[in-house]
Amino acid sequence: MDFRLTDDDLELKQMAREFAEKRLYPYAEEYDEKETTPRELIDEAGELGYLGFTASEDYGGMGLSAVAFGGVLEEICAGCAGFGILVSVHNSLCCEIVDKFGCDDLKKKYLTKMVTGEYVGAYCLTEPDAGTDVASIRTSAEDKGDHYLINGTKAFVTSGGLAGVLIVFARTDASEDGHKGISCFVVEPGWNGINPGKPEKKCGMKASDTREINFTDVKVPKENIIGKPGEGFKMAVSILNAGRLGVAFQAIGIAQAALNEAVKYSKERKQFNQPIANFQAIQFKIADMATRIDAGRLLAYRAAEMKDRGEMCARECSMAKLFCSQTANYVVNEAVQIHGGYGYMKEYAVERYFRDARLTEIYEGTTEAQRMVISRDILKD
Ligand SMILES: Cc1cc2nc3c(=O)[nH]c(=O)nc-3n(C[C@H](O)[C@H](O)[C@H](O)COP(=O)(O)OP(=O)(O)OC[C@H]3O[C@@H](n4cnc5c(N)ncnc54)[C@H](O)[C@@H]3O)c2cc1C
Repeated sequence: MDFRLTDDDLELKQMAREFAEKRLYPYAEEYDEKETTPRELIDEAGELGYLGFTASEDYGGMGLSAVAFGGVLEEICAGCAGFGILVSVHNSLCCEIVDKFGCDDLKKKYLTKMVTGEYVGAYCLTEPDAGTDVASIRTSAEDKGDHYLINGTKAFVTSGGLAGVLIVFARTDASEDGHKGISCFVVEPGWNGINPGKPEKKCGMKASDTREINFTDVKVPKENIIGKPGEGFKMAVSILNAGRLGVAFQAIGIAQAALNEAVKYSKERKQFNQPIANFQAIQFKIADMATRIDAGRLLAYRAAEMKDRGEMCARECSMAKLFCSQTANYVVNEAVQIHGGYGYMKEYAVERYFRDARLTEIYEGTTEAQRMVISRDILKD
């Protein structure tokens, strides 16, 4: 297997690194403090193509590979992981589902504006009582002849307060339990009956907007359904790979940024009249951190390559998500340790990475959910 990025992929990654170093890293602490990112940043990312990265060129996207996107996402998340979530959810879930399953009219109306960043996408699947068990969602979409009427509440919606498009999963057939009877819709957040809650107060990834959204008698035109009625769960499962890969690359970006800070600090900080990097205890931590990051990166690129080749890769995407998110948490913990007491202070970036990394083991399927996917796939044979 050849995991090398092409020259074009490397160039895109380098451009993303420059964008992250100039426009994200210097402001990440401020965004974390203010718990938001400015709209201009989204516009800028849109102009650079980061919000239509893998979407079809026919609808204005860049039509690039999952491998290339992974490289770019790593860099963006190293600069500001909170902004990276917006980029990841928008591309990997929202654009992907409309692009893959939407009809031409939906793509012309919405995808063309999503790929420029004019409409940021928010993915409304989780509910207060339906997380890992997403097939138990209760939000309903009642068929009223020329439209559907949506009622229910969605929880933890990333970009819920700034989105231009909501991708909403709801039950169109109340007689069906579990995964059957779930459909997926493109919904405009300005329509009557949609009420976003206050931004959630989070432990990390604070630059990202997260909120509950309530839907009360929201009239959705019939043509805004993605795919056919009852196909929502199947579509959600089919794009999980992209979503999980996105989190794997996010986690690697955070881990690499934490390692870079730890290496720098270990050369600067002196104890016992010498840089702490001279101590074997610190050197071995750095060796283990770098080794795990490399292993995670290889798992993530392998899964991305398989996805690009159109191969079945649910197990590999889950392995990448599982290992990279655990690696990120291991690495940020060690990076804080290398910083000693200063690592616990907000003036050092590792404090933020420590909080940001935690989410990667929770969303897009918890660590336990990834293990269920992997073990089920192994044991089925
Ligand atoms: C900041 C943030 C952003 C998010 N963004 C989005 C978004 O944009 N769109 C969206 O739809 N959702 C989003 N989510 C939701 C996220 O995907 C869910 O939180 C996640 O899937 C877990 O669901 P839960 O929180 O309900 O936990 P639960 O499902 O209640 O799980 C609680 C614990 O039980 C474990 N568990 C559950 N079932 C099993 C089982 N069968 N076997 C073993 N262990 C099990 C879990 O692994 C976990 O440890 C976001 C969440 C957060 C925190």
